[in-house]
Amino acid sequence: MKVAVVGTGYVGLVTGTCFAETGNTVTCIDIDEKKVESLNNGKITIYEPGLEALFERNIKQNRLHFTTDLKEGIEGAKVIFLALPTPPGEDGSADLKYILKVADDLGPLLKDYAVIVDKSTVPVGTAEKVTAKIKQNAKVDFDVVSNPEFLREGVAVEDFMKPDRVVVGTRSEKAKKIMDMLYAPLVRQGNPVIYMDEKSAELTKYAANSFLATKITFMNEIANMCELLGADVDAVRKGVGTDTRIGKRFLFAGIGYGGSCFPKDVQALAKSAQEVNYDFDILNAVMNVNDKQKTKLIPQIKNYFAGDLKGKTIALWGLSFKPYTDDIREAPALYNIDELVKAGAKVQAYDPEAMENVKGQIGDKIVYCDDQYSALENADALLIATEWPVFRTPDFDRVHSALKNKVIFDGRNLYNPDDMGELGFAYYSIGRTTIN
Ligand code: NAD
Repeated sequence: MKVAVVGTGYVGLVTGTCFAETGNTVTCIDIDEKKVESLNNGKITIYEPGLEALFERNIKQNRLHFTTDLKEGIEGAKVIFLALPTPPGEDGSADLKYILKVADDLGPLLKDYAVIVDKSTVPVGTAEKVTAKIKQNAKVDFDVVSNPEFLREGVAVEDFMKPDRVVVGTRSEKAKKIMDMLYAPLVRQGNPVIYMDEKSAELTKYAANSFLATKITFMNEIANMCELLGADVDAVRKGVGTDTRIGKRFLFAGIGYGGSCFPKDVQALAKSAQEVNYDFDILNAVMNVNDKQKTKLIPQIKNYFAGDLKGKTIALWGLSFKPYTDDIREAPALYNIDELVKAGAKVQAYDPEAMENVKGQIGDKIVYCDDQYSALENADALLIATEWPVFRTPDFDRVHSALKNKVIFDGRNLYNPDDMGELGFAYYSIGRTTIN
C-alpha cells in the first residue's frame, strides 16, 4: 500500500519506518528542510533503539522516502497519517494550528479517495474539524479517522510493531477495511484492533495518558507520606503492585513525570473538561503534585549545604525525561538545573543521548561532560535525574573519591539506601530512609 506520513518527528518517523518494514511504500513529509535533508542523506534524526537498522534497510530497499513537498509526498497514497505537533496553547488546550493547516493544504491536493488518519493526540471533535477543513476544497471522497498512537519513546519500535492494541475511530466501512489491512501484520498475535467512533478514540488517548500520569503521581504522594511516616516506598510499591487489580507498572516513585506527552495531555484534558463546565479535580491535583515533585530534592540539597549553594558544583547524571531517549521536553532535569543555577550553583552534566538537545536549548548555562565520571570532577554533590541503566551500577569507589562531599541526591531511587551508607555516602532518595 502507498502510505504518506505528514510530520516526521518521534511518532511520524517511527510510523513511517515501521509501515515500510511491513512492505508498504512510505513517504514521510516534513516542513523542516534540514530534517528532510538529513533523512534523505541516510542520517537518522532521533535516537530511538532499533529504529536506525529499519530506517537504513527500508531506504535501501526503496520503500522509505522523505520530502518537504506535501503534493509530491501524498501522490497516490491510500492512507495519509498526520503525525504533527499538538503543543499546549497559551490556555493549556491542545493547539491544532499544525493539524488544521495541513488539513487545509490537503483538500485541493487529493486526487483519489484517501483515508486521512489523525495520529497526533488531539481533543475530542478534531476529526470533525479536520473533515470540515478538507471538505472546503476537496473534489474527491475521503474519510478522516482517529488512530491515536500509544508508543513510548525509548521502546517505540517494539511498541509500534507489537502494540497492546490499536484504537481506530471511524464509522466508515471503507476506511475500516484499509486500516485493517495496514495493521494486520502488527496484530498477528491476536492483540485487538478496537474500532469505535472518532470522539471516543480521541478521548481514549487522553484517558490513557492521564490515568498513567495519575498512577505515577499517586505513588509519588505515597512516597512523600513514606518519608514523613518512616515507611519505605519500595516495600509499599511491591505490596500494592502485586495486586493484579493495580499492577506492577507505573508505580516507581521519583522526581515526577516529564516528556512531550503526559504534561501536555493532562493539561489539555483538564482544559477540555473546563470547556464543557466540568471540574476534573483529579487532573488539577495531578498537575500540582507533579510540578512540586520535579524539584523535590532541591530544598534537601540546599539544606545539606546550610542553605547556600553559591559556588557549589553539582554533578548531574541524566538530562532526558526518561532513559533510552534524547527527548528533553519537560524533563525534570531541566527544572532542577534552573533551580540550581538560580541558587548560584554550577552544574556539570552528563547524559548518554540528550546533551546535544540540551545544549541547543540552554547553551552554556551548564557544563557538558564526556562521561558520567568527568561530571563528578570537583563536584560537591551528585544529583541523579534520569534512570539510565549506565548509572545503576557505577564504580562507587570512583564516585566516592571524586566527590568533594560524599553525598548523592537520587531522584530515581537507583540504589539501596543501606548499601549507600555502607559505601560511605550520605544518600537522599524518594520515599525511603535518608542516610546522612
Ligand atoms: P515532533 O515534534 O517530534 O514531530 C512533529 C513534526 O511535524 C516535526 O518534525 C515538525 O517539523 C513537523 N511539522 C510541523 N508542521 C508541519 C507541516 N505543516 N507539514 C509537515 N510537517 C510538519 O512530535 P511527536 O513527538 O512526533 O508528536 C506528534 C504527535 O503525536 C503529537 O500530537 C503527540 O502528542 C503525539 N504522540 C507523541 C508520542 C511521543 O512519544 N512522542 C506518543 C504518542 C503520541
